[in-house]
Amino acid sequence: MKNNDQNTSAGQRINDLITQAPVAISFLKGHELIIESANIHILELWGKQDDIVGKSLALALPGPDGLAYTKLLQEVYKNGHVHYGYETKVWLYRNGHNNLFYFDFVYNPVKDAGNNIIGIMVVATEVTKQVIARQLLEDTEERLRLAIEATGISNWDLDMVERTIIASPRLAEIFGLDPEEKVTHPQLRDMIHPDDKPMVLNAFENAVKTGVYLYEARIVWTDGSIHWIRTGGKVVYNEQHKPLRMLGTTYDITERKHDEMMKNDFIALASHELKTPLTSLKAYTQLLAVKAKKTDDTFFINALEKSEKQINKMTRLIHGFLDMSKIELGKLQLNQQLFDIGTLITEVIADSIPNAPGHNLFFKAGSPIHIMADKEKIGQVLGNLVSNAIKYSAKGSTITITAKMQGENLQVSVKDQGIGLKLKDQQKIFQRFYRVENESTYGLSGFGIGLYLSAEIIRLHHGKIAVESEEGYGAEFYFLLPMQATNS
Ligand code: ADP
Repeated sequence: MKNNDQNTSAGQRINDLITQAPVAISFLKGHELIIESANIHILELWGKQDDIVGKSLALALPGPDGLAYTKLLQEVYKNGHVHYGYETKVWLYRNGHNNLFYFDFVYNPVKDAGNNIIGIMVVATEVTKQVIARQLLEDTEERLRLAIEATGISNWDLDMVERTIIASPRLAEIFGLDPEEKVTHPQLRDMIHPDDKPMVLNAFENAVKTGVYLYEARIVWTDGSIHWIRTGGKVVYNEQHKPLRMLGTTYDITERKHDEMMKNDFIALASHELKTPLTSLKAYTQLLAVKAKKTDDTFFINALEKSEKQINKMTRLIHGFLDMSKIELGKLQLNQQLFDIGTLITEVIADSIPNAPGHNLFFKAGSPIHIMADKEKIGQVLGNLVSNAIKYSAKGSTITITAKMQGENLQVSVKDQGIGLKLKDQQKIFQRFYRVENESTYGLSGFGIGLYLSAEIIRLHHGKIAVESEEGYGAEFYFLLPMQATNS
């Protein structure tokens, strides 16, 4: 009697648990699947009232859907295996509307002490929110994928430890391969043009250190044709700063490169053709100046001096264009020699003074610092920094040039009190053709190649060029050159 009481109270407790559970639960008893208990949530799911309790599932849920459901549960009853149903669609009438909901189901066979199946516990959890959130994410990803595909850009994910790559099919296409083909990292590496391979390997090594990967290089397709690509990526590190993955994009820039090359060819050709007539023009002007000086005709003398200045300006510009096309072709070479930087600075100042009648150019020469570098090209960099300092600051202001040792490097800086630069421009002014266009630079002509050339010359010397400035408060341009020879 006592046992029976205990059984009843245990049964009651289970029943209470089921009724009060926040998830949908039902217990189906025996092979006939009699609905022993069912809470309000599962009744809602089944679309029934509690009068179905005590009936068999087949009777309670007639119709084709109910039949399939009953069959599945009978199967579970027979084989004793737990059955999971994920994200099952269920239409429910809630808040006056028929809406679609998603549920995860578990059909769990319940056994007695003798391991005989006596029923099935049905538990259903609503996962509508999660499913909708995932669908939204998938939609967004799909839209992003379509947008990326439309741009012709390929994106990829490189495992930095295993060196395996997961890429969009576009990457294989860019390399002239079948988009269905699974490309490998070594395979793509092998297709880089042999002349560009060291640069690409260098960019990769740099990326491991700095986290940023960027290069433009040629690739050779299997049919022998040459194409240009631009690759950019970002490295993902773990907490120990060990590189784990690199995420990036690659696209086909062959057409742009061809256009650029044609433009470069034109600039190189035009500059080359202009060089000869300009040289003879300068020679004739100098000849005339010599003759003029023998007369007292000051107008004539002044006019010829001004002509020579303009010819010099034009010559510098043309040489700049020629150097630029040499850089593009990787043909700008250095002629290294040992020289004293202080002497070079004094020469550059002497050349610049005629163009800066209202500025104070200041250089305090210290003890000589001899450096092994390309004297002419370093002179070109200095000339460019000084002429910019003159151009972008007001008459009467001071330009200070300093040269000093900074650890292992020589540091030369040109500081002005001029218009200065915004941070966003400071990051771009060393790019080819970049010029700041605003009311302070209005009317100041230029091509935006001086700083680009200067940066390339310093880079060829394995040095560094940079600027420190605040808009309206002047600018200090400086470059660091590694010392390649003794310094006395
Ligand atoms: P350019 O002077 O011919 O335009 P540069 O390459 O020498 O070309 O300079 C690029 C740009 O950097 C200039 O257009 C100017 O906006 C900015 N810049 C260069 N030097 C200075 C300076 N000393 N102060 C302020 N802005 C400068």
